[in-house]
Amino acid sequence: MRHRTLGRTGLKVSEVGFGGIPIQTLSHSGAVAVVRRVLDVGVNFLDTARAYTTSEERIGDAIKGQRSKCMIATKTVARTAEGVERDLQKSLTLLGTSNVELYQLHNVMSDETLKEVMKPGGALDAFKKARREGKIQFIGITSHRPSVLIQAIKTGEFDTIMVPLNYVERTLLQELIPLANKTGTGSIIMKPLGGGAFTNAEEALKFVLNQPVSTVIPGVCSIKEVEQNAAIGTAPLTLGKDAEKRLEEQAKILGQTFCRACDYCQPCPEGIPISALTRVDTFIKRMGWESWYSRNKEALKKYENCQECRQCESKCPYQLPILELMAEKVTWLRKQYGSRMT
Ligand code: SF4
Ligand code: SF4
Repeated sequence: MRHRTLGRTGLKVSEVGFGGIPIQTLSHSGAVAVVRRVLDVGVNFLDTARAYTTSEERIGDAIKGQRSKCMIATKTVARTAEGVERDLQKSLTLLGTSNVELYQLHNVMSDETLKEVMKPGGALDAFKKARREGKIQFIGITSHRPSVLIQAIKTGEFDTIMVPLNYVERTLLQELIPLANKTGTGSIIMKPLGGGAFTNAEEALKFVLNQPVSTVIPGVCSIKEVEQNAAIGTAPLTLGKDAEKRLEEQAKILGQTFCRACDYCQPCPEGIPISALTRVDTFIKRMGWESWYSRNKEALKKYENCQECRQCESKCPYQLPILELMAEKVTWLRKQYGSRMT
């Protein structure tokens, strides 16, 4: 596995890291097995978050006795010093460690939120205190908005940024990534596969790894995916003309209005598993009908209870027309699989 330096942190992270969102959908033992395989194949950078429900606990169980083999990055959506302290303590407990290499302000979506977390007594103060106490080594920030991260870098407070980059989302290559490199800010790439929308993982990952970024953290939910991704971190990164053409074609089909399965639209007051519906076609392609249906049997019943409150749309970082997308996918689902629903 090749390694790159994570900006001024100096940490030598595997080029292909591990994104901790999808293991939430597995059984506990299945998730632990996946993370153990991640370590076995030489991936040493594991990203998770307090907001990813069971992810930290599962990673914690998987790395027991192997803590020195990995670097852990986790995050908090807390915006106050008190909230950060509470979240960090919980994360450390679940991860079974006394410190993490990287702690990140999660999903800072606007300049106003950035100001809020940076004001005296705000979240950032608690990050700095935790760093003095040795509970965290470095401070990072994550956002889906390059403009917010540009402002964050300019403050000089953040060692790393985390941002989506894939064949559809490339504008950050013009200003954000060059600025990160100029200032020694490490760049961690989320959504390299567009949340699983790019079906050829090898080509999509190679495209991202050909950019001047520190590491990519594709989410994985099977041992096979772990091994496939790890192989990309050891193989030549050459991307032929045909592969670029295929990426271009897929990007055209996806357009900008596709769901990245980030789940920032949650919680829905009616408990509707929104991304399970807005991304149903790609999930079924990836995991098969039986598996999708066994996990989401109640999704359609819950969908019927949608109050059209549009709380989800106000939280979506991509400003997607979620209600329209869900309606379109549910119609498709009924047409394709209606006869197989019990
Ligand atoms: S509009 Fe429907 S899906 Fe969205 S939050 Fe409200 S109830 Fe949930
Ligand atoms: S609808 Fe938006 S917020 Fe919800 S999972 Fe998809 S991209 Fe994320």
